[in-house]
Amino acid sequence: MTMTAFLLSVLLGLFPGLSSARAAQPVPVPAAREETAEKPSSAEVLTRLRLGNARFSLGQSTFKGIDAARSRETAENGQKPIATILSCSDSRVPVEYIFDQGLGDLFVVRVAGNVSDTDEIGSIEYGTEHLGTPLLLVLGHTKCGAVTAVVQGDSVHGKIPLLVDNIGPAVQTAREKNPGLDEKDLISKAIEANVFRSIEDILTGSGMVRELVNEKKLRVEGAIYDIATREVHWLGTHPDQANLLATPLKEEKAGEGQAAPATGHAPVADEKKPAAEPEKTVPGQEEQKEEHKEGPTASH
Ligand SMILES: [Zn+2]
Repeated sequence: MTMTAFLLSVLLGLFPGLSSARAAQPVPVPAAREETAEKPSSAEVLTRLRLGNARFSLGQSTFKGIDAARSRETAENGQKPIATILSCSDSRVPVEYIFDQGLGDLFVVRVAGNVSDTDEIGSIEYGTEHLGTPLLLVLGHTKCGAVTAVVQGDSVHGKIPLLVDNIGPAVQTAREKNPGLDEKDLISKAIEANVFRSIEDILTGSGMVRELVNEKKLRVEGAIYDIATREVHWLGTHPDQANLLATPLKEEKAGEGQAAPATGHAPVADEKKPAAEPEKTVPGQEEQKEEHKEGPTASH
């Protein structure tokens, strides 16, 4: 039995109605952070997040760990978050609420479209290596405006094209794997592909994260938050993780991520692909240009 299957069986055993009907019984609250081991395992962290989301989605949030005492405690003793989470900046996705966690519990990196570019990866390295969180979660969400804009080929301006150029390859992957889908379903597939694309960018762009994963000190998972039902749908690890960990790192090919300093963007991961040209602005056009060049690695 995989860890995911094990955790699911534990959860569904605890809450038989959770996966279908709305469970009526109270969702357990694990022991306070201070009472647990200094460093929980990734499995323990996943369980805490699953239980926290169950409480949130069922209207049983505890709102623990957000009082003045916790502020004082974390100010004096420093932060010891249990998970690093990369999520979208969408105002409907308040990460601590979603998992019913308190101050100092989650090291959250937020950027529109939950993309993993240089600055995001640097922040993720701080959370996973320096703060030592055993779990890195990339959290997409339903009805993501950033992904939707790329799917629809919306015209975007200012610095936004530089942001959404990371999403284009995921949309292309979703299109190729799901021909004939209507736009609404394609957006859902693209949101999922974008989570895995982001994980791919991390695993191929950060030697630090890669080392932690190889040493089994870090687990990297994806998930989608449903902004209507409040439930998190867990996607597990990247299906191609072993191969991604074996491919050359981006910075090894192009001078430690300094290849494109004028744009602030790291070089692209796929060596079959030419270097990104962030000056082009319309995502829809970009998708056209990148057609037939994107590898099939970001599955789902
Ligand atoms: Zn979004």
